[in-house]
Amino acid sequence: MAKYTDADCRLCRREGTKLFLKGDRCLSKKCAMERRPSIPGQHPNTRKKPSEYQTQLREKQKVKRAYGLLEKQFHAYYEEAERMRGKTGENMLSLLERRLDNVAYRMGLASSRAASRQLVNHGHICVNGKRVTIPSYLVKVNDVISVKENKTKKAPFVAVKETRVVVPKWLEFSTEKLTGKVIALPQRDDIDLNIEEHLIVELYSK
Ligand code: SF4
Repeated sequence: MAKYTDADCRLCRREGTKLFLKGDRCLSKKCAMERRPSIPGQHPNTRKKPSEYQTQLREKQKVKRAYGLLEKQFHAYYEEAERMRGKTGENMLSLLERRLDNVAYRMGLASSRAASRQLVNHGHICVNGKRVTIPSYLVKVNDVISVKENKTKKAPFVAVKETRVVVPKWLEFSTEKLTGKVIALPQRDDIDLNIEEHLIVELYSK
């Protein structure tokens, strides 16, 4: 599947919910979901009740797009979640949350997952003192996530030091040191997106 290159806001409008893909803009009045929340396209079909398949598909697309993944990558998380003990849907969300780009985003080091992925790709983020450039790297309990020492004086990180960051309870973060720690694995109630993960499991298990 090709990389999506159209406007990010169209994805939110298509899914009918804010996916927070554009950082600060998502919290402003400029957000397309505030200004024009209709489904994109010339004649969107909003009258017909969606079929069971459409509902499941939309839920999958919503989560996949929120985390900025392609179908193959997203499906691989489902397969891994299926092999784990416990509920497949919850396992899948936990795996997605543990991605390094998501963790840096949750720690407030970037205003969106896409920006966070760029930080990781460009080598600004370290795990346990070592530079990691793989956005899909899965963090573990007790991993220490930090900004590379020679990058801490860069403007975006200086700005982070001056903001108050609220991190989920499975993470710790010091804005002063630009360092955080994974204190537990993310649980279902730590994930604030409005997701019905059982629909995704139903879709993939057909
Ligand atoms: Fe979605 Fe953010 Fe665009 Fe709003 S501004 S529509 S939340 S990407």
